[in-house]
Amino acid sequence: MDVTLDHRFADELPELAIPWRAEQAPAPEVLILDKELAAELGLDPAELTTGLLTGVEPPAGAKPVAQAYAGHQFGGYSPRLGDGRALLLGEIGGRDLHLKGSGRTPFARGGDGLAAVGPMLREFIVSKGMHALGIPTTRSLAVVATGRTVLREQPQPGAVLARVAASHLRVGSFQFARATGDDGLLRRLADHAIDRHYPELKGDYLGFYDAVVAAQASLIAQWMLAGFVHGVMNTDNMTISGETIDYGPCAFLEAVDPATVYSSIDTGGRYAYGNQPAVAQWNLARLGEALLPLFHDDEERAVPLAVTSLERFGPAFDAAWTRGMRSKLGLAEDPPAGLTTDLAAILRAGRVDYTSFFRTLAIAARGDAEPARALFPDPADFDLWLARWRALSPDAGTMDRVNPIYIPRNHLVEEALAAAVAGDLTPVERLVEVISEPFRERPGLARYAEPAPGDFGPYRTFC
Ligand code: AMP
Ligand code: MG
Ligand code: MG
Repeated sequence: MDVTLDHRFADELPELAIPWRAEQAPAPEVLILDKELAAELGLDPAELTTGLLTGVEPPAGAKPVAQAYAGHQFGGYSPRLGDGRALLLGEIGGRDLHLKGSGRTPFARGGDGLAAVGPMLREFIVSKGMHALGIPTTRSLAVVATGRTVLREQPQPGAVLARVAASHLRVGSFQFARATGDDGLLRRLADHAIDRHYPELKGDYLGFYDAVVAAQASLIAQWMLAGFVHGVMNTDNMTISGETIDYGPCAFLEAVDPATVYSSIDTGGRYAYGNQPAVAQWNLARLGEALLPLFHDDEERAVPLAVTSLERFGPAFDAAWTRGMRSKLGLAEDPPAGLTTDLAAILRAGRVDYTSFFRTLAIAARGDAEPARALFPDPADFDLWLARWRALSPDAGTMDRVNPIYIPRNHLVEEALAAAVAGDLTPVERLVEVISEPFRERPGLARYAEPAPGDFGPYRTFC
């Protein structure tokens, strides 16, 4: 039996799709496969050959393409980015099957078109963790080692990641279409996006923009609530579907501090933890600009329409954040604003581990405040806050359902990747298994719940 892949993107948007083939993989070997996701896609593990998963032997009838897109990278506009090392293999059940690390394409510029085992396994692990947390995300189907050496600072084993997404349409896809000056293409792209993600909004381009703004406001609130730092929120890395995409220099917040930056290349802190909502809105403004011709024939009249939609980001984000905080704090009603802002200040002053705090706070709701108090160098301010919070009768059960105990902590990810690159996949498999069930505490997993050891030092991530 052969896998059947659709090719709607290639057919409907040929201007944005360059037919292309994957590079040979000299010695392909599946390193990890998400069987649950395969089943979700209706794929038999036997169908998931390395030929399919590397794109070297695409199924009959498939039309693999490299997708064109533009993007603002760290605020600077690049008119032509595109899939430099990736391919859209096709669509299955309405979702994209996409490969990363499959060789150079016409968008490769100076890049080698390749990906290394470490970063592809990182994407596998972190996307799995995000999905388990209930956060919309692209999924990782498999990582296949290619047997090729990839030259980075150190020579690395090469890999291809097979990724599944609602689509790979990005803010940058619309920027690219707009820049062609072809409004017909822009409209076809919007129609394609609406049909895939917001079919109830057929023909309603302003409604479509509203929907993307709402989806991103919800997504970014979920990142903030989970302590996720994306690290490279360029407009080409922001989806139209509202899924998290592009796990490069991402990390999870350790000590609470809105200025936290993990990415080695984000020297200005543009994509710091606390800047993420503002950056998302900035990116959505770029989407609005790209869509202007679809809002009104007269651009003067289109601008205020876009602005009104864009301004809904703030209230939508605040509402999602408040709703989330209410659950994290186990409260029956929205927390009074002072309670959450004071908490943020106290956590920041104590440089408290974000994930550990909320989990130990549930223990305090059950009567024992000591584990939470122990996270603070000086718990005096926390004690005062605790009394205010306890007066609201928090429910520990609610808290444990939304505050994870096991996430892909930075030091655990690094440790597992180092072992994998040295040939031992067991720590990656184990970590994936643990974080796949983030909320249920299990015996013997204490080390997966602990903050990074002191000697882990300040964390740096690389693209
Ligand atoms: P990213 O920062 O991962 O979103 O990538 C930005 C752009 O660089 C995209 O157009 C990628 O396709 C391209 N790119 C990243 N790494 C490589 C590579 N090794 N070879 C070719 N293109 C790349
Ligand atoms: Mg990208
Ligand atoms: Mg990347």
